[in-house]
Amino acid sequence: MTKIFATLVISLLVSSCAFAEGLEVLTLVETQGQSDTGLLVNASDSLKAEYFPDGKMPSQILAFWVKVSDNGILFDTGLRAGNIPAELSTKGIDTENVKTILLTHLHPDHFGGLVNAEGKATFPNAEVYVSKPEYDYWVNELKNDGVISALKLYKVNQFAFGDEVVAGVRAIDTSGHTPGHVSYLAESGGKKILIAGDIMHFQIIQLPHPEVAVKYDVDPVKAVQSRKFLFDYAAWKNIPVAGMHIMIPGIISVTKSGESYVKQ
Ligand SMILES: [Zn+2]
Repeated sequence: MTKIFATLVISLLVSSCAFAEGLEVLTLVETQGQSDTGLLVNASDSLKAEYFPDGKMPSQILAFWVKVSDNGILFDTGLRAGNIPAELSTKGIDTENVKTILLTHLHPDHFGGLVNAEGKATFPNAEVYVSKPEYDYWVNELKNDGVISALKLYKVNQFAFGDEVVAGVRAIDTSGHTPGHVSYLAESGGKKILIAGDIMHFQIIQLPHPEVAVKYDVDPVKAVQSRKFLFDYAAWKNIPVAGMHIMIPGIISVTKSGESYVKQ
């Protein structure tokens, strides 16, 4: 299986993720579709019409499998336990072999795949990692049933912003979209990648206009600040950014131009 995995990874690196070579990064696609521009916040009608004349925005739900120092890590799980396990399986990775799941935050399109159709753990041998402020918000403050029942199926490890969560992966505070939203900086073999969750939802408008937020942002002002902080850092250090709603293959490198960002 190792050999199959390596072959697939190399082919993927060549085809779509050449800028992340050195780290083995697989993009896992759950769905692709369209969203309505009514989801946008802090965008005028004329600005929306400039980028989306028909009122529809391309959208996708992704997860990532990243090999960091020989450890395979699943970053987020998608909305349902369907396509992400299937995608992993085509890469030679069975759900039983997923040992480490790092969640960026606790919205359903990121943790929902933890639970299979029978209500059991999709990844029976995995431990789940989530930031303490995110856990506190959904479990202790909101007492969200979906989150609580999903996390009950796993050993859950909480961490603080700034912690090295597992070897080679550090959690960066990018809260705002949710109170404990993190981006992960993964480093292996001298190569780095930022796995940035929902740092951005609709890149066609949010790269040139990072001030545009979405209705799902718990704190839109802070979400905008976090987006600018992370993309400033990524542009400065020339680190690719993987995002669960970035257009396929879900990984971009950016440069800064005034207050905007430009995909390289
Ligand atoms: Zn999301």
